[in-house]
Amino acid sequence: MNIHEYQAKELLRKYGVATPRGQVAADAAEAAAITESFGGQSVVKAQIHAGGRGKGGGVKFAKTPAEAAELFGRMMGMNLVTKQTGPEGRVVRTVFVSDPVDIARELYFSFLVDRATGRVTALASTEGGVEIEEVAAATPEKIVKVAVDPAIGLAEHHARELAFALGLSGDTFRKGVVFFRNLYKLFVEKDCSMLEINPLVVTKQGDVTALDAKIAFDDNALFRHPEVQAFRDLNEEAAAEIDASKFGLNFIKLDGSIGCMVNGAGLAMATMDIIQYHGSSPANFLDVGGGASEEAVKNAFRIILQDPGVKAVLVNIFGGIMRCDIVANGVVKAAREIGVQVPVVVRLEGTNVEEGKRILSESGLRIQVGADLDDAARKVVAAIA
Ligand code: GDP
Ligand code: MN
Repeated sequence: MNIHEYQAKELLRKYGVATPRGQVAADAAEAAAITESFGGQSVVKAQIHAGGRGKGGGVKFAKTPAEAAELFGRMMGMNLVTKQTGPEGRVVRTVFVSDPVDIARELYFSFLVDRATGRVTALASTEGGVEIEEVAAATPEKIVKVAVDPAIGLAEHHARELAFALGLSGDTFRKGVVFFRNLYKLFVEKDCSMLEINPLVVTKQGDVTALDAKIAFDDNALFRHPEVQAFRDLNEEAAAEIDASKFGLNFIKLDGSIGCMVNGAGLAMATMDIIQYHGSSPANFLDVGGGASEEAVKNAFRIILQDPGVKAVLVNIFGGIMRCDIVANGVVKAAREIGVQVPVVVRLEGTNVEEGKRILSESGLRIQVGADLDDAARKVVAAIA
């Protein structure tokens, strides 16, 4: 789960991580009042779950309270297009007013979970304010990595190594060390999967502060953080993904033409690979998981069919805990209720497979059955060729 910048900054403050003062404004008058309280100037920032706002027109400097009010009016409700939103953009529903900072240097700092080492890893770079992917591609030597031993945590010497790599010195160095250690504490205690401060700023006064903050949380740990769950903004999530999550299903929207209903993430990957191998690409995949009910399967199939990108559907189920007859009944019910306008190919294997195939063939629906995964993928791709 992702959260907004202003929410991330609330968390930073709770952990003693320096970040400029700021407040969400409900209306233009409040944007002006907040700006007034900061001494008459502010940075007005659109809150969407995507970066690149600065270049897209979602971060603007206000020289007076009146200008902040005007910027609020322009930003609120606008469709903000950035490099990360895709061409369709995102509607701005929240506007944050921030106390301006005099920037001396823009740096980059993040924690992420490095799957190769299985460790939380700090990334730091003197090249802040630009996308780290670009730095990694052009000047990878400018990124310093420190893997953290989970038993020890971010040790003092690690924090010093990072501060040193960023060229901090004197009092600023000491502030950097405190910043990194508090940030690590937040990362671990709140079960984050990614925490990025870009830019991490050294101010002209020699302070270290988080000018921007992006946090992603491990969904599997959300149950133990109700205060983080409260940050969830459904407006920022794809409607179909929310719909699916109500039934305990995982739906991922992609940009190809074949809808995929599968059970298990590994099978989803294999299914998408084989679709690509046969010359098409997935429009989405929906993982019904292990023990889904007929009702959940029915909704899964409905959600796939409602995706406008779907030109054909491949159902690929390996019944272990999941029974093939439950899948077949769910598919048939969904097909009857909402009608199916696109070709459907089913590959079933495992528990109660004969019963599942019988239900499909007796349903009267035009559903093709694949002999195996390869055959099913071939058929579904051929169906839309
Ligand atoms: P992003 O474009 O979505 O990553 O939004 P950021 O919050 O990172 O802001 C983009 C850029 O705006 C930063 O890299 C800064 O250069 C600039 N910026 C944001 N806030 C301030 C501020 O308080 N003072 C100054 N001088 N520049 C700022
Ligand atoms: Mn940023």
